Amino acid sequence: MMKHYTKEELELYRNGHMSVLSRIGCSAHLGTCKTCTALFNELKNEDQFLAELRTSVQLYQHQQRKETAK
Ligand SMILES: [Zn+2]
Repeated sequence: MMKHYTKEELELYRNGHMSVLSRIGCSAHLGTCKTCTALFNELKNEDQFLAELRTSVQLYQHQQRKETAK
């Protein structure tokens, strides 16, 4: 029976915190399972969102610093 991966497990996989053997199994599973691939992409999108958020905050802070330097 095929076991699906949890979000937590996929997170470990993505961050390279999985053992080599588990990683091989996971990447093989992702190659055949649409459900887990969708979940995996979801994690990547969340990451992108957080990265964009961080960039906006940095831009804002940078702007603020420029304002006070005047
Ligand atoms: Zn799966």
